[in-house]
Amino acid sequence: MSPNSTLWQTILQDLEKLYNEETYNELFLPVTSTFKDQNGLLTMVVANEFLKNRINKLYIAKINELATKYSSTPVRLKFISQEEVIEEPVADRKLTIDYRQGNLNSTYTFDSFVVGKSNMFAFRMAMKVADQPGAVANPFYIFGDVGLGKTHLMQAIGNYILDNDVEKRILYVKADNFIEDFVSLLSRNKNKTEEFNAKYKDIDVILVDDIQIMANASKTQMEFFKLFDYLYLNNKQIVITSDKPASQLTNIMPRLTTRFEAGLSVDIQIPELEHRISILKRKTATLDANLEVGEDILTFIASQFAANIREMEGALIRLISYAQTFNLEITMDVVEEALGAVLKTKKKTNQLNENNYDKIQSIVADYFQVSLPDLIGKKRHAKFTLPRHIAMYLIKLKFNIPYKTIGSLFNDRDHSTVLAACEKVERDMRMDSNLKFAVDSIVKKIDSPSLK
Ligand code: ADP
Ligand code: MG
Repeated sequence: MSPNSTLWQTILQDLEKLYNEETYNELFLPVTSTFKDQNGLLTMVVANEFLKNRINKLYIAKINELATKYSSTPVRLKFISQEEVIEEPVADRKLTIDYRQGNLNSTYTFDSFVVGKSNMFAFRMAMKVADQPGAVANPFYIFGDVGLGKTHLMQAIGNYILDNDVEKRILYVKADNFIEDFVSLLSRNKNKTEEFNAKYKDIDVILVDDIQIMANASKTQMEFFKLFDYLYLNNKQIVITSDKPASQLTNIMPRLTTRFEAGLSVDIQIPELEHRISILKRKTATLDANLEVGEDILTFIASQFAANIREMEGALIRLISYAQTFNLEITMDVVEEALGAVLKTKKKTNQLNENNYDKIQSIVADYFQVSLPDLIGKKRHAKFTLPRHIAMYLIKLKFNIPYKTIGSLFNDRDHSTVLAACEKVERDMRMDSNLKFAVDSIVKKIDSPSLK
């Protein structure tokens, strides 16, 4: 357990002596994972709110006292529940970065990245980039839907480079943090250019996560453009992730998108069932070597969570914490107990959504007087393609589900087709007031209470 924290293991030994066996087994042993951020905050994950609150109320002071005693660097521990992890914890930000430690999650490595058809090319190219930063593909651009491993792969590049040369200065930054830094350091008479340069220019590799967030932030984009050119000309490796191909980024200035396109783009798709099972197996192994989770159970979880690996892993962690907390062998009954609520709400929202996807399709078909099979089908006549594109656009707008999933509702069209359709509708609406009117009318029908 908690393989990445020897500190926690040391603290545990003291806790075992300090408290009775029951408390120790119930509260401290089941901590499932730990991760450390750039400020020395060590986050510990426990199964539920109840355990979290008990630790935070009664034991946290003692635990932090022990942490300070055993750690050579300043450290604090914080306990959170499993539910909070699924949301992806946001680390406190800090401008000065200890590059030796890196602001990378050290578990995001090539080694822990399970390769299959859906990510093979992205993985191979990422390895090459990491092997010869600045020389193979610059920028290296990774795109795909949420939860499919973009951040993991990007940070694996950073960790690999750092493992080979601890002197390398790797900066990982989410695009929204870049915007915040820009606002706090550079915008309007805040003359903190030096601080900005120290963080962003004096580096070897920059990893910019979720670039699509920069949409509409035009001043920040200008600054990023300057930084990009500076790093590029100095042969520094630039890695970027996004939820869509560079050519389809909206509200990002063309001088940026054309530069992204000039590098190498790779995409990550939804992994197949077998691949997802392998990911779960790998994850189980890192969680606890003594724990047996049967093939049938892993297959069940993998089949329930197809489109988002983060959610799938969340379910596995929840199951394992549950089994550990109550000291149970993992059977299908235990799966039902541990994940019942999650699966039920998932099923419910799926049903709800599916119905509503259907309804959007019907309303659009009705509005344009085409049949539902024609709306969904393959006919390419404009009479069908326009309503089809509008229906895709509205489903994205209303439910914000992955393009790939929308594609599956329209005769298995692929991610890029749906994305192109959605963006075309959005673009055309700006120029064509009739189209805008039609879409607005349809939205009103969709929103009318009779739908529910
Ligand atoms: P994204 O950035 O695309 O939203 P993440 O990189 O955050 O996705 O991945 C979500 C979770 O799934 C992470 O915990 C990550 O480690 C895990 N994951 C994704 N792809 C893989 C893979 N191929 N092998 C192992 N773990 C993976
Ligand atoms: Mg990500």
